[in-house]
Amino acid sequence: MKTSNVEAATGENAATVPRPSNFIRDIILEDLKTNKYDGRVQTRFPPEPNGYLHIGHAKAICLDFGLADEFGGHTNLRFDDTNPEKEETEYVDSIMADVKWLGFKWDGLFYASDYFDQLYEWAVKLIQDGKAYVDDLSAEEIRKYRGTLTEPGKDSPHRNRSAEENLDLFGRMKAGEFPDGSRVLRAKIDMASPNLNLRDPVMYRILHAEHHRTGNKWCIYPMYDYAHGQSDSLERVTHSMCTLEFEDHRPLYNWFIQQLGIFPSQQIEFDRLNLTYTLLSKRKLLQLVEEGRVSGWDDPRMPTLGGIRRRGYTPEAIRNFTASIGVSKTTGSIELAMLEHFVREDLNKRTPRVMAVLRPLKVVIDNYPESQVEEMEAVNNPEDLAAGSRQVPFSRVLYIEHDDFREVPPPKYFRLAPGREVRLRYGYFVTCKSVVKNEKGEVVEVHCTYDPATRGGNAPDGRKVKATIHWVAAGSAVDGEVRIYENLFTKENPAEVEPGQDVLDNLNPNSLEIVADAKLEPSLANAPAGTRYQFERLGYFCVDPDSTPGKPVFNRTIALKDTWAKLEKKQGGTG
Ligand code: ATP
Ligand code: MG
Repeated sequence: MKTSNVEAATGENAATVPRPSNFIRDIILEDLKTNKYDGRVQTRFPPEPNGYLHIGHAKAICLDFGLADEFGGHTNLRFDDTNPEKEETEYVDSIMADVKWLGFKWDGLFYASDYFDQLYEWAVKLIQDGKAYVDDLSAEEIRKYRGTLTEPGKDSPHRNRSAEENLDLFGRMKAGEFPDGSRVLRAKIDMASPNLNLRDPVMYRILHAEHHRTGNKWCIYPMYDYAHGQSDSLERVTHSMCTLEFEDHRPLYNWFIQQLGIFPSQQIEFDRLNLTYTLLSKRKLLQLVEEGRVSGWDDPRMPTLGGIRRRGYTPEAIRNFTASIGVSKTTGSIELAMLEHFVREDLNKRTPRVMAVLRPLKVVIDNYPESQVEEMEAVNNPEDLAAGSRQVPFSRVLYIEHDDFREVPPPKYFRLAPGREVRLRYGYFVTCKSVVKNEKGEVVEVHCTYDPATRGGNAPDGRKVKATIHWVAAGSAVDGEVRIYENLFTKENPAEVEPGQDVLDNLNPNSLEIVADAKLEPSLANAPAGTRYQFERLGYFCVDPDSTPGKPVFNRTIALKDTWAKLEKKQGGTG
């Protein structure tokens, strides 16, 4: 029996791998019933190594690996590396790391370039059979001859070369006798086909370029459309899932398979993932990186797997999200809020709670002994009591959030204000007695008294307070940087641009805010990069690799749902 390719499918996490029903799963079930492929399910994930994977690819990965796994099948990782000019080993490495991070293990690791010899042989066979020819038309002329959706194309004057002449020319193309772009090999199909992909598509072009794996062995390279279907066939892929834009290419892939008489893989198309406020195109993401609009491929604002990993998203959340959006035959757009929902849901279960103050306001508890420090017991995760508790130091001088104090509290504002008593989480009840202001009239210090009988957060006399706020003791606070992210784009559909504008004009100028002097509880001093927390009342945060000893840097993964902000909006912006 085959072991699972899905890490979480075995062991104690078994239940967390979603098995959603969808039309592709139904096709596989039917094929298994009719024994179409002798009960085999073989899939592949076929990235082109010309950029970093993004959340859209995660949908394809979960589908390819998840479906094969469910039926005891196999999944290959295959790099479709037919374009030497745009591909790099850096991308290959990052793609492998990302697939592993998502929780999947591939069976075979292949490269389309492994098949270059075989593809060349097959091209020779097609020439011999009169099914392919060398064309001397320029790229521009080929485009002109191709016709349009409403007009048939025109035969190239070179279409009827003899097989002998074609073999000779193709061999010389391979031998490097001709300059780039001077000739191509084309399939001889039908210049009048209603499907433009069948109007004698180009199979090979001349490109004197070094390939990341085959070096300078080749100066002719197969087109993606000539390589893809045969690569699937060579790997005996049974169910070849790809996105809808390849639907029109399927007849061409099938034509090659039929002419060559090779294993017929079945291509099934599904809808690409589009997310609101998000751009999912490697080309556009590359532009953001190259123009320095973001700090790199793994900028936490990027929808790349590297970016969202650095930001603190979990593979579990992404797998649950892709399972819940399903697959269909029509392309739509998914709300970013839905992805965020799955991120919150997962982080809520797994992250320890800690206290951190992003915009510190100094609080002095006048009746608390000057040099005293008490260790207060704090629960690590109310959702997971096995996570235990920790000690948090409490002292006379503390920091609270600026926003948790109002000198003149608006209606329904229950937090600290002059004369008001609130609970300091895991600490004591404190009452605000007075404030200190700077010369601009801003409150810079709040003076309180505490009730020693309320240690731990409850009053023995049963009196209630309406708010609990978080805090960090001043003496032992760790200084940290916190990076707060908003959507990278301001428009729900970033590709929607005014005439003469570019998607980059839709970039959100406020997508990154750096809080340079946050105050963190001492347990956060040396947290390793990648550690995730919930900062109580603020959101989920993840340690960034930019952290240095004693000076942690945190990324805000996502805010908690902010009920106050909602209420404030409803009230028309009071307070
Ligand atoms: P992009 O348009 O972002 O450059 P691509 O389709 O060119 O992406 P590939 O490396 O060719 O990227 O993609 C590998 C696989 O991932 C393909 O099967 C492709 O269909 C799938 N894929 C790419 N983008 C998405 C998406 N947004 N949603 C679902 N699947 C996707
Ligand atoms: Mg592609």
